[in-house]
Amino acid sequence: MSRAYNFSAGPAALPEDVLRQAQTELLEWNGARASVMEISHRSKAFIALAEESERDLRELLDVPANYTVLFLQGGASQHFAQIPMNFARRDQSVDYVLTGDWSEKAAKEAKALTNVRIAATAAVTNYDRIPPREEWDLDPGAAYVHIAANETIRGVEFHEVPDVGNVPLIGDVSSTILSRPLDVSKYALLYAGAQKNIGPSGLVAVIVREDLLERCPKDIPRIFNYAEHAAKNSMLNTPNTWGWYLAGLVFKWMKAQGGLAAMGERNRAKANLLYGYIDNSGYYRNPVERSVRSWMNVPFTLPRAELDEAFLKESNATGLLALKGHRAVGGMRASIYNAMPIEGVQALVDFMRDFAQRNG
Ligand SMILES: *Cc1c(COP(=O)(O)O)cnc(C)c1O
Repeated sequence: MSRAYNFSAGPAALPEDVLRQAQTELLEWNGARASVMEISHRSKAFIALAEESERDLRELLDVPANYTVLFLQGGASQHFAQIPMNFARRDQSVDYVLTGDWSEKAAKEAKALTNVRIAATAAVTNYDRIPPREEWDLDPGAAYVHIAANETIRGVEFHEVPDVGNVPLIGDVSSTILSRPLDVSKYALLYAGAQKNIGPSGLVAVIVREDLLERCPKDIPRIFNYAEHAAKNSMLNTPNTWGWYLAGLVFKWMKAQGGLAAMGERNRAKANLLYGYIDNSGYYRNPVERSVRSWMNVPFTLPRAELDEAFLKESNATGLLALKGHRAVGGMRASIYNAMPIEGVQALVDFMRDFAQRNG
């Protein structure tokens, strides 16, 4: 058996070069005579790794100096709760824009803690679009506005950062971070679970403007307080050292690929190839409005749901893994994150064409 093209939505494929390097230095890392997993996070060597990975991420994303970069834990979902805990004030409500399952979940978690206003929602059209910015009912006095920049399940992506005036914009970028250049300064806080484009699950990257950290209340548990984590350089407690190490390797890999401009061009080409085929096939269908289709997650359906099982079985046997769509949507979903080469997308298109011909 050998490694196949893996279209998993997450945990997702990692670059093979990164896995090989981790394999090579698994037992003894960097002269430590032990694995990177087995040494103190407070050792000089690990702190150097932490600092270097932060520098690389800052360079890749061109993070402005007045933003703090954190490597935390709990998955993106914990931060659905931690964000309102830190940034919603008692006398203010918070605005959420619902464009799919993840923004819905984020709003639901916030509701347990604060007064949530739904500024816009595409639920009525089954999340096949992003409501036009002019139609959003934003509260200029809101503590923040929350969006999910890419909806991993529905395959809906903001291709431009919406202007929300002076209210801090918070973005869940779990499944789009590092897929193309991003203007960090348009957000007050960005957060991303690692398991799509950064590394293994459990690790969460948070990029937060320093003035926002001043809002963190003193009366919440320290472990949930972003300002406390920032003051301790993400080492308030033992960080996910293995995840952090792998993330560092992924950042190096991306720099070697030419950084985010190059990643963006590759990802645009991959998405164009797959959507182009789907739209012209007369067989497969993607339900999302064209202007907001995701470059990372491409859901599609076959003409009859009875064909799904055969499609999955045969694609898997051909070496195209994990194409089953999310249960909320059905059909198929191809996640084509940074680690998926265009050859993998071409192999998928070739299989899809062949399958359509045989099952017309
Ligand atoms: C995967 C994902 C999450 C959830 O991440 P967990 O690490 O499982 O908490 C949240 N938001 C988006 C956009 C995701 O793609």
